[in-house]
Amino acid sequence: MFASVLALAFAAQPAAGPVTGAQLAEACRGRSGWSDPAPPARIAPNAFYVGTCGISAILIPTPRGHVLIDGATAEAAPHIAANISRLGYRVRDVRYLLVSHEHVDHVGGIAELKRLTGARLVARAEARAVLESGRTDPADPQAGTIPDFEGAAVDQLIRDGGTIRIGSVVLTAHATPGHTPGGTSWSWRTCAQANCHTIVYADSISAVGPDSYRFAEHPARVAPFRTSFAKVAALRCDLLITPHPGASNLFARMAGEAPLRDRNACRAYAEAGRERLDGRLAQERGR
Ligand SMILES: [Zn+2]
Repeated sequence: MFASVLALAFAAQPAAGPVTGAQLAEACRGRSGWSDPAPPARIAPNAFYVGTCGISAILIPTPRGHVLIDGATAEAAPHIAANISRLGYRVRDVRYLLVSHEHVDHVGGIAELKRLTGARLVARAEARAVLESGRTDPADPQAGTIPDFEGAAVDQLIRDGGTIRIGSVVLTAHATPGHTPGGTSWSWRTCAQANCHTIVYADSISAVGPDSYRFAEHPARVAPFRTSFAKVAALRCDLLITPHPGASNLFARMAGEAPLRDRNACRAYAEAGRERLDGRLAQERGR
């Protein structure tokens, strides 16, 4: 009887649809936790924010099935799925799960989202071992400072410059290692009538680690950052989205408080990453 009442309650609840960018910004004001629930909102005709207040997850819907980029935390996974439903899309119609980088805050929910969607997990080879084991690479500067997570099998490997085609959408993978070896940025085109622009989901390019870690002593870890800064800066980029929404002021831009589209955004993001790394190296020299 209780179950049938629940079923009725769900049946009576049509998909509520996206909130506005201003409503999303308001819902997350003062909340930026990795798992703090946020309502779904539209970024572009084929890009919806379905993540949490602190971590991005992006749904790219197409009539041939959908793509989800990033899965936040295990705690957030059911909420991401609920956001997809709330937009009126079937969770089981998500065909591909793509990821930015192999840290718990972006892929901790991937195992659960694979179960909920039945989608194929696509990643670069460099991310595979961590994604499948759920154990942060011991050589990672953040090892020991972030929790492990439930691993998930990678179903398909993709190379730098490789593409995922679904419906009329083509997503291109850009290897942007540094923050992690498997760091990947993604780009795709979005069009409203004849007006098209390129969205870049640019991965984290920040040098992060405890004070005890000295990047200066790991030149092999610093070099990929330099390559990735140049690469991100050179991407065709009309609309920047980042795995941490705050890193690109995303909610305020979606709320109309700053330009949502900015052809200089990827260059500025890369420059901020470069300044952070150089600042960190200078600080290490002073210790
Ligand atoms: Zn990270």
